[in-house]
Amino acid sequence: MISLTDVTVTYPRRDTPSLRGVDLHVAAGERVVVLGPSGAGKSTLLHLVAGLVPHSTPATVTGTLGLGATLDLDVDTPVHERSTVLGVVGQDPSASVCLPQVDAELALVLENRAVPPALIGPLVQAALDQVGAGALAAAQTARLSGGQTQRVALAAAVVGQPGLLLLDEPTSMLDAGGVRAVRAAVDEVARDASLTVLLVEHRLDDYAGDGGVEALPGRAVVLGDDGSVVADGPT
Ligand code: ADP
Repeated sequence: MISLTDVTVTYPRRDTPSLRGVDLHVAAGERVVVLGPSGAGKSTLLHLVAGLVPHSTPATVTGTLGLGATLDLDVDTPVHERSTVLGVVGQDPSASVCLPQVDAELALVLENRAVPPALIGPLVQAALDQVGAGALAAAQTARLSGGQTQRVALAAAVVGQPGLLLLDEPTSMLDAGGVRAVRAAVDEVARDASLTVLLVEHRLDDYAGDGGVEALPGRAVVLGDDGSVVADGPT
C-alpha cells in the first residue's frame, strides 16, 4: 500500500535532512503508528505520503514512493463504486472542516465523486453513526467541540471509502474527553480490515500501556531526532 525506499527530504535553507534514508513498507490493511520526538519528521512523512511534499514546499526529495492504492479508472466501474485513494485528518479542529453544516461536509466528498444523490444521505448518516456523531448531521460545524469536530473530520475522511487513512496527531489539541471520543471513533473506523491506517503521535506514553488505543496500532515506526527510522516492529 505504501512503499518508501531510501527517502530523504531536505527543506530549503536547512543544513540537515528532516527525513533521512527512510525505508517504510506498509501492506494493505496494516495499522501503523509513527512515533518520535517533536521535529523528528513525522508530519513530513505523512505529508509526503499524502502528496503534499514537495508541492507545498520546494523541498529536496530523493528516494522512491509507491502508493498501492491506485485509482481505478476503468470506465466500466460506476463512479460511485470507485474508492478515493486516501483520507486525511490533521491536528487542528479549526482547520479540519470547511462547510457550515455537518452533513454537507460529508456530502461534498460524495458529490465530488458523482455518487447518485439518493445514495448520499444514507452513506453520510452511516459514516456519522460510525464515529458516534449520528445526532450531529444537521449541526452547525462552527458550534461543535474540538472532539466533535475531529470525529466529523474523521467521518468525512472515510465516507468515500479510501484505501488509506492518514491521521496526524488528531487528538493533540483536545481535552481528555475529546481524546477518548476520537480514539474510540478511530478504533471503530479501523474495524474495516481493508483500510490501511497511518497514525502519527508524539506522546509515546499513550501507547505504552493503559490508555493506549485498543484496535490501533499493530506496528510502531519510531523516527529519531535525525529523521531516520530508529525502530520498526510490533507495538
Ligand atoms: P514532527 O512532525 O516530527 O514534529 P516535522 O515533520 O514537522 O516533524 O518537522 C521535521 C523537521 O523539518 C523540523 O526540524 C522542522 O523544523 C522542519 N520543517 C518542517 N516543515 C518545514 C518547512 N516547511 N520548512 C522548513 N523546515 C521545515
